[in-house]
Amino acid sequence: MATCVNHPEKPAGLVCMKYQIHVCEQCANCRDPQLYCKHRTACTIWFVAKDSENGWGD
Ligand code: SF4
Repeated sequence: MATCVNHPEKPAGLVCMKYQIHVCEQCANCRDPQLYCKHRTACTIWFVAKDSENGWGD
């Protein structure tokens, strides 16, 4: 199983499909929120980050 790019001790439950970066839920943030991404409508990271206190977007 892939591990979080920021926390090698944690399993990565999420993946950025654009950059192929694996992250844990704590690290769920889109690195290019202002740029178009063809994966956005199906991106779990995007929706997790939007709903978090650190969220951006709407
Ligand atoms: S919306 Fe952001 S996190 Fe999701 S695939 Fe695109 S660049 Fe990666």
